[in-house]
Amino acid sequence: MTSLVHVSNHPLVLHKLTLLRDSRTDPKLFRELLREMAVLLAYEATTDLATKELVVTTPMGQAQGYQLAERIGLVPVLRAGMGIVEGIWNLMPNTEVWHIGLFRDEQTLEPVEYYNRLPVSPTVDVCLVLDPMLATGGSAVATVDILKRWGAGRIKFLGVIAAPEGVERLTKAHPDVPVYLAAIDEKLNEIGYIVPGLGDAGDRLFGTG
Ligand code: URA
Repeated sequence: MTSLVHVSNHPLVLHKLTLLRDSRTDPKLFRELLREMAVLLAYEATTDLATKELVVTTPMGQAQGYQLAERIGLVPVLRAGMGIVEGIWNLMPNTEVWHIGLFRDEQTLEPVEYYNRLPVSPTVDVCLVLDPMLATGGSAVATVDILKRWGAGRIKFLGVIAAPEGVERLTKAHPDVPVYLAAIDEKLNEIGYIVPGLGDAGDRLFGTG
């Protein structure tokens, strides 16, 4: 597997992921866990963001400080991406949030775009594509395609659980896009679900399962 794929081994991530997978976890706890995990994964995914130096005045004098130097866009893929945007947005409140709506055609398992309100020219330097489940990789590849056509300079993918097939497809199509995950599971089943995974992330988030 390429070194662009980062799978967290942070104990907090491992602990929360286990609770997240558990079928007894109700939607309220599921949402909380997903939000917390997103923050931990975003911490790992943002270690190379550019900063610029500035001097800040403290009550005791002057200190050297830093501020983020790049414009960052969070791109949640509807609808499960909604579950990981809020925590990251709180962490980086000055980021822009651009939603992309894709659904999976149940026959072909390929993504169909139904929502995209990106303006004509790019307004951010770095995009973080957010989708908790990297299953077939179809939606992730399609979203990165959209962002590249838009002119986004740097793109990263942040998910929670991936199937090996999804990682393979995304990294083959977009070898320049680093991928941040909590786990790569065993396989995809015949209807495109990750095994063992956690079931349908959107249903578990929104209580619609
Ligand atoms: N989407 C989900 O929510 N779960 C899967 O296992 C695969 C895709």
